Amino acid sequence: MTHSAEPMVRTENVHKSFGHVQVLRGIDVTVPRGNVCVVLGPSGSGKSTLLRCINHLEKIDSGRIWVDGNLIGYRQKGDKLYELHDKDVAAQRREIGMVFQRFNLFPHMCALENVVEAPTQVKGQTKAQAWRRGMELLSRVGLADKAGNYPSQLSGGQQQRVAIARALAMDPKLMLFDEPTSALDPELVGDVLDAMKDLARSGMTMVVVTHEIGFAREVGDQLIFMDGGVVVESGHPREVLTNPQHPRTRDFLSKVL
Ligand code: ADP
Ligand code: MG
Repeated sequence: MTHSAEPMVRTENVHKSFGHVQVLRGIDVTVPRGNVCVVLGPSGSGKSTLLRCINHLEKIDSGRIWVDGNLIGYRQKGDKLYELHDKDVAAQRREIGMVFQRFNLFPHMCALENVVEAPTQVKGQTKAQAWRRGMELLSRVGLADKAGNYPSQLSGGQQQRVAIARALAMDPKLMLFDEPTSALDPELVGDVLDAMKDLARSGMTMVVVTHEIGFAREVGDQLIFMDGGVVVESGHPREVLTNPQHPRTRDFLSKVL
């Protein structure tokens, strides 16, 4: 179901602990559809956990998350919430693409096979449809000529671009990126960022955890600075980056800029 008036992502007072450690302490975030939200913050501030909660990889302790107007993990009837069945959770997850720091491609499959695996298995596309679309996606990330290469025959940056194409093959409404370039050699970062910028310009809604300030400036619509499980400061990237209001934001930016 599409609720076009709703933002693509909305979180309301999201809390998440691991044991005694409170990792998310009341996160309120709204990402309008078509926007790029860049999440910055020191290590351990809860950035990955937030993405993982949006994508059902972690269950929140309290609060609500909506993606495209649909409550994540629950169905609401009146005032009551009912947990979704696994099948419905899987359906929600299919609409959200995620790209991790490590690319996790299947090593025994070539680039194209990696891209078409999920749509043929899960979406029931015919081989021909999936392969045609897979080639389109590989072209889009600049890898049409590498379709037959195995991951071991690709650079880290190329593998990451295959991972992006693989996520896009499921036609997600929303793409989540968790430090997609931080495991890459510096000279390989640019091509991955270019693929992400291209995706941003095509209108995809994206939440991107990254320290790539240039990316935030160029395509970010919103920047969120997290520390200690809370959103310390947020706003347009240009404003936050040039005129951070909070001392913790200033301190962090002085280290990464
Ligand atoms: P970030 O991505 O900002 O570096 P994370 O969301 O990965 O932060 O982690 C935030 C905190 O939660 C850290 O203290 C981390 O050790 C802890 N944490 C994350 N995942 C788990 C887990 N599965 N079990 C226990 N603690 C975790
Ligand atoms: Mg992280």
